[in-house]
Amino acid sequence: MQTDPVCRMQIEPARAAAQAEHEGTIYYFCSEGCHKTFVANPGKYASAIAPAAGHGTGHKHHG
Ligand SMILES: [Zn+2]
Repeated sequence: MQTDPVCRMQIEPARAAAQAEHEGTIYYFCSEGCHKTFVANPGKYASAIAPAAGHGTGHKHHG
């Protein structure tokens, strides 16, 4: 299962209405509407479901 980054719906890739690639990641959409919304502003939606790797969820200070 993949998450539609626009509406957060769980999507089976095989049944997705549309898909788009952004920065090397494939995103799946429940509808053309979500797809269009995503491609209009991919950074906004891609970051919404980005994997935890990247920016941490808490404060971790090394030192
Ligand atoms: Zn959707």
